[in-house]
Formats: sequence, structure tokens, C-alpha cells
Amino acid sequence: MRHGLVAAVIATAVLGAGSAASAQEFPTKPVTIVVPFAAGGPTDTVTRLVAQSMTGTLGQQVIVENVGGAGGTLGAARVAKADPDGYTLLLHHIGQATSATLYRKLSYDPATDFMPIGIVADVPMTVVARKDFPAADMKALIEQAKAEGDVITYANAGIGSASHLCGMLLMQALDVPLTTVAYKGTAPAMNDLLGGQVDLMCDQTTNTTSQIKGGTIKVYAVTTPERLPSLPDVPTTVESGLPDVQVGVWHGLYAPAGTDAAVVARLEEALQAAVTDPNVTQRLAELGATPATAETATPAALEQLVTSEIARWRPVIEAAGQYAD
Ligand code: ASP
Repeated sequence: MRHGLVAAVIATAVLGAGSAASAQEFPTKPVTIVVPFAAGGPTDTVTRLVAQSMTGTLGQQVIVENVGGAGGTLGAARVAKADPDGYTLLLHHIGQATSATLYRKLSYDPATDFMPIGIVADVPMTVVARKDFPAADMKALIEQAKAEGDVITYANAGIGSASHLCGMLLMQALDVPLTTVAYKGTAPAMNDLLGGQVDLMCDQTTNTTSQIKGGTIKVYAVTTPERLPSLPDVPTTVESGLPDVQVGVWHGLYAPAGTDAAVVARLEEALQAAVTDPNVTQRLAELGATPATAETATPAALEQLVTSEIARWRPVIEAAGQYAD
């Protein structure tokens, strides 16, 4: 009995030392960041920029894997259930907080099944339409929506996505239910908007800025209180008479709950290097996004944000009464 106990204590000490040593050496193989939306979209764009910079800092390849579907909850579930060894991470957005209310039967808990690493960036949204959509401005769009209702189609990335949230606020403000078309991310939705198969969408500036500047889509408003330096001619939703349609999309990086603190610290260090890397900050600024700072790319800041955003959106979603299940 006594020997057994001593052996167990020794084994625990050896194993403990082993995992501490491997945490110090982390990473010794490529790290995967799961993006819970399709490739080529706004969350993917931010993630690839950050992953490239983190590859340099960590000395190991940081690979992006797109696991789209169910408004981002399929990709999030994948990471919640992954080994907590730091090699499978999640880069998600505001949906990490809204899905807690929108999905009454989630297979994971967005607040407790993840170890926050840090905030990545803030990205505004834009209300956009196919190029030949008749309404010339927001006033005309409101009139057209009231006249045509669900003849107008609205693209989103599924329930729980930022485009869903923005569309929900837009339809509430207009008091008109549009016909929703769900995609696995707003990259395929943008393809259909460009092809004229769908009429309207809200999407992050990281996906719409080049198209707006190139004149390939129409823009009605930005969903921020102030105009954006990157799109100075585009009015805000407040200016356009829709003050309740305000959504700021924030992105965060997470590991599964139970990841070793030393591994999280190493990832946090690499994230902080990424959000202050001029290659990342310059490109994000061109796309209308604001990177996190060394102070906000931290576990404490992201944990606090997730908690406060779950509390902020819960009553809004409950008032809309739109659930995924
Ligand atoms: N912009 C998408 C959303 O509406 C997600 C994406 O494809 O990045 O949430």
C-alpha cells in the first residue's frame, strides 16, 4: 500500500515534470487554428494574417482550417472537444457570445469550454446589396423593403453569425421579415451577391471594403456610431435613421479548456506579436479593422469581453425570439 502510494507520487512527479517540460518546448509541431466559417471570408482573412505572423514567432507552421456550418458552432464544437494541448485553436467572432443564447441546445459551453488567449481585432459591418439592386440609398432601401417584404433576399452565415445578428436588427428596425438565405460563411454569400443571386447582406468590412471600392456591390451604411476612415463617404446607420442597427464584430483566439498555462502564455505572446506586427496592422487598417493591443490580446480581456457580450446580447436575442432550435 505504502509502496503503491510512493510509486504513484513518483509517477505523478515524473509526469508533471514531463508536461511542464513539453509546455516549455511548445510548439514542436504545426498548430491549427480552426475558423468556423468558409475560406476567403472576413474571419478567415483576419485569421490568415494573424497565423502568418504567429508562424514567425512560434517557429512552427500555424495552419488555418475552415470548419463552416451552423453559424460557426460546428467549428467551435470541434475545438471545444479537441485535446487541450495547444495544437488546436479557435479564432471566432461575436458569435462565440451570441450562440450562447441563440442555440438552446449547444454541445459545448462557449463560456467554460474554452481557455481565452486574447482579443484579436474589432471589425465594423456594412449593409450592402448586389450592384443592380434598385434602392439607391438607405431611405430608398427602407421604402423598398416595406413595399416588397420577403420578396427581398438576405444572405447570412447561419444563425449565430454576425451577418445573422445584423440582419435580425435590420429586420426588427424595418419591421419587415426578409427571406433569409444561409451560407457556411460570407465568402460564398459574397459570391452570390456578386452574381446577383441574392439581394442584401451585412458583412464585415474585411470582406466588403475591396468590393465597395471596386464598385462591384452597393453599400448603404456602416454599423458603427462614427464613419470609418477607410470608407469616409459611407453614412452610418445612425445617420440613416436606423440607430438600433449597430454591430461591432470582435474576434478572439481560444484554446480548449484545460490547456496548460505555460502553453497559453506562449500563444498569448505570439498573438500579441501578431496584433502589433506592421504587416498585420497595416492590412487590417486598409480593411477598416482595428487590431487588439498588447493590453487586450490577453486571456483576461477576452474572458471579460465574452462574459459581458453574452449578457449584452441575451435580452436583444430573447426580445427577437429567434432561436436556432
Ligand atoms: N462574416 C461572417 C458572419 O456573418 C462570418 C465569416 O464568413 O467570416 O459571421
